[in-house]
Amino acid sequence: RKKCIRISTGSKQLDACLNGGFQTMSISEVYGEFRCGKTQLAHTMAVIAQLPKASLANSHSREMGGAEGKVAYIDTEGTFRPERIMEIAERFGVDPDQACENIAYARAQNSEMQTELLEALASNFATNEYRLLIIDSVMALYRTDYSGRGELSERQQVLGSFLRRATQMAEEFNLAVLMTNQVMSDPGASALFAGADGRKPAGGHILAHASTTRLLLRKGRGEERVAKIVDSPDCPEREATYIITTGGIND
Ligand code: ATP
Ligand code: MG
Repeated sequence: RKKCIRISTGSKQLDACLNGGFQTMSISEVYGEFRCGKTQLAHTMAVIAQLPKASLANSHSREMGGAEGKVAYIDTEGTFRPERIMEIAERFGVDPDQACENIAYARAQNSEMQTELLEALASNFATNEYRLLIIDSVMALYRTDYSGRGELSERQQVLGSFLRRATQMAEEFNLAVLMTNQVMSDPGASALFAGADGRKPAGGHILAHASTTRLLLRKGRGEERVAKIVDSPDCPEREATYIITTGGIND
């Protein structure tokens, strides 16, 4: 039996709320308004996943909470920045070039390509070297490719098969799957899913059902950001504050 691993977020406070971080073998989703740090969290975790695992024996060496694994990164918005990976790598004392090399990066231009890229990663995952799959963001391309009225049920069907495959891969290859998601502004779609605090993630019931852990991110006071756990199999609904630094997500 594969052993579930938790990967740190970079924020001790947020990790504490998540019993150590985002877990492998299921989908975790972070959603929230623009600039709340979804992409920065994705970059931070792309580095942390490569670090040694947390253990009592080596807790004095560096900040741990990694999974000693490689990372796959599907970018649907063109916001991945290797320079950010290098800066975050420096915070954790790992070689910046090595950190970038351990990330299999792919840019998806449309929703069909998003599915194809996921399938193509199966051969990477089969090496058992990968512990984290990032999709930033999961809904953006579906929303542009199926924007018309009357296309929603078709979209949800295609989305459903994408999410089933991602769930299957998470379990088969012991991967943490981190998906970022947008909050909806179009009133026509808002009836799909009534999220917490009036903020509704895109993707409707299909995505809500696929995400084992769900976090709502928002801006707080000043530079502060707030993460609220809105759905989790083993953590209570709690809030954690974090900041975005040169070294990524931090307390
Ligand atoms: P969107 O919905 O537009 O994709 P997002 O939630 O992905 O937004 P991010 O891109 O993760 O948002 O976060 C942007 C924020 O990160 C900005 O406020 C920016 O100031 C901050 N940021 C980016 N790089 C750095 C850095 N090197 N040091 C500190 N803060 C940074
Ligand atoms: Mg982003």
